[in-house]
Amino acid sequence: SHIKKYFPIQVGLLRRTVGHVKALDDVSFHIARGETLGIVGESGCGKSTLGRMIMRVLDPTEGSILFEGQNLTELKGAKLRKERRNFQMIFQDPYASLNPKMKVTEIVAEPLFVNGLMTRKQATDQAFQLMKRVGLRESDGERYPHQFSGGQRQRIGIARALALSPKLIVADEAVSALDVSIQAQILNLMMDLKKEFNLSYMFISHNLSVVRHLSDRVGVMYLGNMVEIGDKDKLYQGPLHPYTRALMASSPIVKRNQHREKVILQGEIPSPANPPKGCPFHTRCPQAMDICKAVKPALLEAVPGHAVACHLYE
Ligand code: SF4
Ligand code: MG
Repeated sequence: SHIKKYFPIQVGLLRRTVGHVKALDDVSFHIARGETLGIVGESGCGKSTLGRMIMRVLDPTEGSILFEGQNLTELKGAKLRKERRNFQMIFQDPYASLNPKMKVTEIVAEPLFVNGLMTRKQATDQAFQLMKRVGLRESDGERYPHQFSGGQRQRIGIARALALSPKLIVADEAVSALDVSIQAQILNLMMDLKKEFNLSYMFISHNLSVVRHLSDRVGVMYLGNMVEIGDKDKLYQGPLHPYTRALMASSPIVKRNQHREKVILQGEIPSPANPPKGCPFHTRCPQAMDICKAVKPALLEAVPGHAVACHLYE
């Protein structure tokens, strides 16, 4: 709720803070159990920062992260570690997050015995079950990450993420580095696992069609702001925010099913170190009005289940 994240910008030898990059500027949303919230936006819009904050790898500058009624931002030490098991992350490049010196069974089993939940033997048995569940073979357990393809490595990352029986998995560009046919396999696996374990996903991607495939609801981010959020079908069939419309018009796959709208994104994304006053999108918005330069629009429900932050709908 109302999450803000400002990164200090430091220059020179004294590391004086000269300003703040507003990576996230008052973002609020919820994710329900068993639901997939897709987060789309161009690179640098704050979507990865948001994911890392939910994981509690980063602390918000302001605001709170509530989980089952508990404020995670107030937890520390053992309590925080225990709650953190409920959140796991899948990365774009699983190779970077898998220890190259460990065998696959060890990689998958590690979270279980490190957290003292099982003996090494029990954890190894459990690891084999998880490997089987994500489509790996028992003999794969004896091999090392570099011996696998990108898609297989992502399966290893997913098996490891599942080890602690998480409730929410944050996937940041989890299939973006894979070939399209492999992407589909991994997405289908993720959807099967979601049903089987009643998982929630926060699925972060710049790829609108991948997000559409997987999500129940979708949030659109621009310059650290959630500018539109709603049920997937409502958002894709009737995007409200001028930025969302422009994104969709420039996405070849989405465009095919839609009446073509001539919205071309003009100009550069402003620097998050010096964001525009008023609506963050006003410097590029074809429909900008006077009020847009002065007053920042709030994210308000335009129709039930579909909210937008834009003065056109107030
Ligand atoms: Fe465009 Fe104004 Fe809406 Fe911002 S508030 S998206 S500038 S119309
Ligand atoms: Mg990113």
